[in-house]
Amino acid sequence: MRTRKIIFQLILTLVLLNAGSYVHAQTQKPLVVSTASIFSDMVSAIADTLVESVSIVPIGGDPHIYEPTPRDVRILIQADLILQNGFTFEGWMYALIKNSGATAPVVTITEGITPITSEAHQNATDPHAWMEPVNGKVYATNIKKALIALLPDRQIQIEANYNQYMIELEALDQYIRERINSLPPAKRVLITSHDSFHYYGQRYGIRLESLLGTSTDADVRTSDIMRINKVIKENKIPVVFIESTINPKMLKQVAEDNHISIGGSLYSDSLGDKDSPANTYLNMVRSNTDVIVNGLTLAFPISTDDQADTSSRTVMILGIGFCLFALAFYIWRKRLFTV
Ligand SMILES: [Zn+2]
Repeated sequence: MRTRKIIFQLILTLVLLNAGSYVHAQTQKPLVVSTASIFSDMVSAIADTLVESVSIVPIGGDPHIYEPTPRDVRILIQADLILQNGFTFEGWMYALIKNSGATAPVVTITEGITPITSEAHQNATDPHAWMEPVNGKVYATNIKKALIALLPDRQIQIEANYNQYMIELEALDQYIRERINSLPPAKRVLITSHDSFHYYGQRYGIRLESLLGTSTDADVRTSDIMRINKVIKENKIPVVFIESTINPKMLKQVAEDNHISIGGSLYSDSLGDKDSPANTYLNMVRSNTDVIVNGLTLAFPISTDDQADTSSRTVMILGIGFCLFALAFYIWRKRLFTV
């Protein structure tokens, strides 16, 4: 019996050792662990191939309600650097780091960003600072500093990648501004499943409404649905937007009840898979902008001015038609009496 117990313990130890080494055994590069795929992509952009960059929450997962697994513990034990968003985004992270026994430095990459506090939900800090690329530049700067501290002899390469990334973020900001400015101010209303676009809306002048607050760990209340229905009716909003990490059932029901459409799918708390339009952070923000602008442009009803234009066009066409008819009648009468 005792021998069997020893053999079992030996097997278990071997399994754990093997499982524990699988991430790192591939490259032997420093392991940088981020909580979400958006941040691990930023690390890949700035560090390029210098590190192994992994995300705890897989692509398509919801970091607000994520439940850590034994795999996460094994990854954190091996981490050389741990990056988190903060602003209550990953409530599970503190316990995970503590329980895993991880010893790597933990860097909060929103350092320097002033958080937005939720208007609808008191004492709630909005974690979605990455949703607009000027904040993205702060993330990139914090990540660059952490990477240089990890790999000081690679500073030149990291700085060069970072500078290039900053240029791309700058260009993205300009792109979004131009696209949003193409929408008349009255059309700039965005209804989503949860409050993930406040930083984006604040920067580019878009009004936001959502079913849930800044997190997804609560149920939708009847009062929330009534509030959204009221906003849709009062503002004649023709379109709502679902999100890739959130079950769209409730928002689809709202759209159906109000006889309006789904404008498209947005990415907020996770990148999309590699074949999606949101396969990197830069592409994700660009794709969101295109979906929002295209959705609102196509779906919004004709404005009062447009209706006035349409009415005057109709009157003009009817007038021309009447004149042609009168002319034809006159010619016909004239011929009749001439004969
Ligand atoms: Zn979120």
